[in-house]
Amino acid sequence: MTLNEYVGNCHNHTPYSDGTLYHADIAHEASRAGLDFVIVTDHNVWVHGREGYYDYEDSKTILILTGEEIHHLDEHPKGNHLLVYDTNTELSQFSNNPQLLIDKISALDGLSFLAHPFERAAPIVEDAVYSWRNWNISGYTGIEVWNYMSEFKSLIKSKAAAIFYAFYPDLGIRGPFQETLHKWDELLASGKNVVIIGNSDSHGQTYSMGPVSRCIFPYKFLFQSVNTHIISRKPLTGNITTDKQIVYSALRTGNCFVGYDLPHPTRDFRFHAYNEKTRCIMGEEISLKNGPVTLEATTPTICNLKIISNGKIITQKKNTSKIKYTVNRPNNFRIEATIIHKLQERHWIISNPIYVK
Ligand SMILES: [Zn+2]
Ligand SMILES: [Zn+2]
Repeated sequence: MTLNEYVGNCHNHTPYSDGTLYHADIAHEASRAGLDFVIVTDHNVWVHGREGYYDYEDSKTILILTGEEIHHLDEHPKGNHLLVYDTNTELSQFSNNPQLLIDKISALDGLSFLAHPFERAAPIVEDAVYSWRNWNISGYTGIEVWNYMSEFKSLIKSKAAAIFYAFYPDLGIRGPFQETLHKWDELLASGKNVVIIGNSDSHGQTYSMGPVSRCIFPYKFLFQSVNTHIISRKPLTGNITTDKQIVYSALRTGNCFVGYDLPHPTRDFRFHAYNEKTRCIMGEEISLKNGPVTLEATTPTICNLKIISNGKIITQKKNTSKIKYTVNRPNNFRIEATIIHKLQERHWIISNPIYVK
């Protein structure tokens, strides 16, 4: 089975909302960072006419798609940020009603992901926590399990911490919040298929502290950090209409994983399941009808690997690049890989589940 892997970032802002670089410049930064695609998601505005392949002399061609990040502006407490893809129309007029918004997206065959669903306050930056507030909803595609800038915000507990982590962010970045992982496991255990993605939420703002003014998180740096890697049986073709559907189809099904590419590139991570007659990749179902199912994951370098089912560790292996496990009961199974970076164990890869039926 030939599989194609494309690395992308699905949550980014331009000056159409509160970012600093426009689409073509974001494309250039992403291309220099080695990404294959980027989805731009400005706040409450779907920017029309910017999708396509962008070419540069000094770096590779890159696919830019446009979605939207929708939230209600006057809501208190603030929150309920929803990432919206593949609707090809403005939907922010429904921002005051998350369920209605999700239903409108589904009716257009679009995708919806709850952005940074659990946030932690950072009083010195801004007293705003944009968590997902309304869990009594259904019909969404998934959740953004890891948002780099949201995690960074949680580190800024004092002025000293702000200065320290502005210079050494990778000493602070550890992985998705436990609350987010627990919620995801709880949703999976309830029988829902919930796809995860991981993104940078890049804005490229400049921060000033006294005489020092500095862009702490340039887009290119963030595009080398937390990304969503899609796995597709079909290769990208260079045709925007076809390729847009290849990317969105992988995100819809969960044929993707979240990789923290800074400590070591996560490209080439694979997670699949098989028995005598069938085979599947992450995001898909496999039946026990043809016998016990073997789960197998491989990583591009040595790490610590866990297979998790409904929040419980089923098996784990340290200092390895491969893990295997045979199951004969229906359940969902996902992989977490951690890696030692700057003397600490940090999340490196979080896969979508395989559903054994
Ligand atoms: Zn947001
Ligand atoms: Zn955002």
